[in-house]
Parts: sequence; C-alpha cells; structure tokens
Amino acid sequence: MTTALEYPASYYAASANPAPKRPALTGAVHCDVCVIGAGYTGLSTALEMAERGYRVVVLEAARVGWGASGRNGGQIVNSYSRDIDVIERRHGKSAAARIGAMAFEGGAIIRERVERYGISCDLKAGNLFAAITPKQMRELEERRALWESLGHRALTLLDDRQMRGEVDSPRYVGGLLDGLGGHIHPLNLALGEAAALESLGATIFEQSAVEQIVYGEPVVLKTRAGQVSASFVVVAGNAYLGQLIPALAEKTLPCGTQMIATEPLSEEAAGRLLPNGHCVEDCNFLLDYYRLSADRRLLYGGGTVYGARESGEIEAQIRPKLERTFPQLAGVRIDYGWTGNFSLTLSRLPQLGRIGPNVYFSQGCSGHGVSYTHLAGRLLAETIQGQSERFDAFAALPHQPFPGGRLLRVPLLTLGAWYYGWRDRLGI
Ligand SMILES: Cc1cc2nc3c(=O)[nH]c(=O)nc-3n(C[C@H](O)[C@H](O)[C@H](O)COP(=O)(O)OP(=O)(O)OC[C@H]3O[C@@H](n4cnc5c(N)ncnc54)[C@H](O)[C@@H]3O)c2cc1C
Repeated sequence: MTTALEYPASYYAASANPAPKRPALTGAVHCDVCVIGAGYTGLSTALEMAERGYRVVVLEAARVGWGASGRNGGQIVNSYSRDIDVIERRHGKSAAARIGAMAFEGGAIIRERVERYGISCDLKAGNLFAAITPKQMRELEERRALWESLGHRALTLLDDRQMRGEVDSPRYVGGLLDGLGGHIHPLNLALGEAAALESLGATIFEQSAVEQIVYGEPVVLKTRAGQVSASFVVVAGNAYLGQLIPALAEKTLPCGTQMIATEPLSEEAAGRLLPNGHCVEDCNFLLDYYRLSADRRLLYGGGTVYGARESGEIEAQIRPKLERTFPQLAGVRIDYGWTGNFSLTLSRLPQLGRIGPNVYFSQGCSGHGVSYTHLAGRLLAETIQGQSERFDAFAALPHQPFPGGRLLRVPLLTLGAWYYGWRDRLGI
C-alpha cells in the first residue's frame, strides 16, 4: 500500500475550489493521446487534443495541479524566460521572428479558456515589471520597443512617480505595465482546466505515477496497478519527472523556490499597497514577485534554492525581502509558507521536442511558465495533428545538458546563483 500524495499546505490549497478526487488507474486502458502529468503543460495539451476530438487520458502521480502549476506566483508574464532579443542574438533573425510571433499567445489562451469554460480563478489584468536601477529601466524601455515591434500594443512605461502610484514602495526608479499580463489563483486555474477537460469526455487518473514507458506503436505506459496504451504520448512531468527519462533529466535542473502569504490586509492597507491590483516582478536576476490575493493577502515570492532543497525556514527567507520592499508591513503575520519546484535549463529557454516518432515533451520554462505552458499545449496538439511548423520553431533550439553531470551541476548552479545575487545587490 503506497501513501497518497496530497497537496502540500499552501494558501492555494487552503483556498482551492471544491474538486473531486480522481481514482488511480487500474487495469488496461486504450486511448489516442496519453499525457504524463496534470500541471498546466499536461492539462493544456490534453484540453487542446480533446477539443480536436481525440480520446485523451491524463496520468498524474499526485493530484491535479500538485506541482508548480498549483503553487506558483500566479503571474501571467508574456514572452519567455529569455526574451526575443536573446533568441535573435543566439539563434538568428528567423528563429526570433517565428518564436516572437507566439510570445503573447499563452496569456491569450488563458483568458479565452477562463471565459469559454467559466473557470473561477480570480483572473485580473495587468502585470508590472519594476526597475530597481536606472540600467534596469533602460532595459525596460528596450523591452517595450521590442514587444511593440512584435505587435504588442498594451505597454506603458512608468517613471518613478507613476510607479509609486502603482506600488507603495521606495525601491523602484520606474517600471513597465503590461496590460496583456495579469494574474490568477494558479491551483484554481488548473482545477478548472481539469474540469473542462473532463466535460469533453477525457479521463484523469490521480495517484498514478508512470513507472515505465515501453516505446513502440502503440506506446505503453505502466503504473503500479495498470497500463495505458496510446498512439501518442506527451511527457509533461517537468521538474517532478525525476529519472523516468534520463535523456530529459540531464537537460534540466529542478530548482526550489519559496512563497509566503500574509494575513488578509485591511481594504485600506491593501488599496494603499497596490492601488490598481496589478502583480509585480522586479528586474533582478534572482527576482522578487508579489501580488494581492482575492482576499487581500500579500503573496510574496523570491529566491531560488538550486537543487530543490526543501526549506523549513521559508518565512525566515522571504520575510526580509517583503519588508525591504514594504517597510510599512514590518511584523505582519505570515499565515502560509510553501515551496515548489520549477525546471531550469542552461539556456533558460523552454525545451519542446520529440523522443521518437510518437512521444513528445515540453519542459524547462525556467521560472516563467504560466503563459508558456499554455502555448506549449497548443503547439504539442498542433504537431500531433500533423501541423508542426510552430512546434518545430521551438524544437529547433538546441537543448544543452548541464555541465558537471548529476554530481557537479547543483554546486555549479549554486555558485552561479551566488554570483548573480551579488550582481543584483551591487546593481550591475
Ligand atoms: C513557487 C513557484 C512560483 C512560480 N511563479 C511563477 C509565476 O508567477 N509566473 C510564471 O510564469 N511561472 C511561475 N512559476 C513557474 C510555473 O509555475 C511553471 O513553469 C509551470 O507551472 C510548469 O507547469 P508544468 O505543467 O510543466 O509542471 P508542473 O506544474 O510541475 O506539473 C508536472 C506534473 O507532472 C506530474 N508528474 C511528474 N512525473 C510524473 C510521472 N512519472 N507520472 C505521472 N505524473 C507525473 C507531477 O506530479 C506534476 O503534477 C513558478 C514556479 C514555482 C515553483
């Protein structure tokens, strides 16, 4: 008898919409597409496939949205962890143009889906990039020009005074408001997508970790008590996939990052802190991000523990960051602290690809995955359906393994994080 994997204690688990517990897989099941993992990547792919009329099964090791998708900052940030200018410098104009054309689609998919399926997840428009140094402000000006050149028309640069009207913090010299970004209750988005998927006839099995993949036609996925044979498989286990597919594991590093939720603030205090209710991320390499929840808690995240070390001292890690941004909240009660893993790649660009003719994967959003995973689901569905131009634009980007193998990559990354944290502190 194995123990069921339940949601870790977090503000999101405590405020989740009611959802059924799905059964574990038993016996043999056949389908067109089987997806491994019920985070946004898996759910989005499954939903896109079910909408196209395919018979879909999702196998989830724990619960729907149990991974990063149910624990994240909830910030819908456009583009990718590395922006289009970096893609152009590294991979040329044509790759940048093709990938740039999709940079704002993930957020649009979330908005459409919330509307179409009536998902209750506190969707709110607007995200702010906050500049701490003049150099970061110049970079935001460049970002605006770049995104406008790709057709984005909802960007507003803010000087220090305007930024102070958005965020009651002395830390920022300015910012950039993206009207096509925004925020959601992340677990409730995942639960709503799962319900939408089931409404189209698809099946989700929880507590059903895939333990073995037998490649072939069909592909057979084995769990402890059952197996699924499928014409196509999509691997969407991301930072929680472990060593199921060693070739994928060596290309990413699971990284732990932590969040806290304060007690609910008074209407007046919350209205002073973030008067327009936009979510915020700063422009540091090791960035802080925060927003108000629907019940007016400040949800604050930041910091990265490379190698996914669990931290028993989450409040001790994050409270100083929160109080540095908002000194007026010194001593505020913290009701929740939790940790989750995202998947880092060496290039910090997501990895989309194939393992053989009928097994596909997407992983490695490097901390910016809420919107990208929704785009990835669409691209995976398009390619399974036989239209692979857009999928191939991503799949053509090289996926480098981390140097140092399994033993050295965590210390090397810790050193890297220390170096970038030091640069952030010096403002260089
Ligand atoms: C604390 C935190 C804050 C973040 N904040 C933001 C943010 O504000 N904005 C943003 O854009 N991004 C953010 N991210 C990143 C974002 O959450 C992720 O990029 C995104 O959710 C990844 O989705 P996913 O579906 O690929 O992976 P996950 O959501 O991790 O889902 C993977 C699922 O696969 C399952 N699984 C793994 N192996 C197996 C197996 N063998 N069999 C069956 N199931 C399996 C897991 O149980 C898990 O449920 C944050 C991440 C964290 C951890």
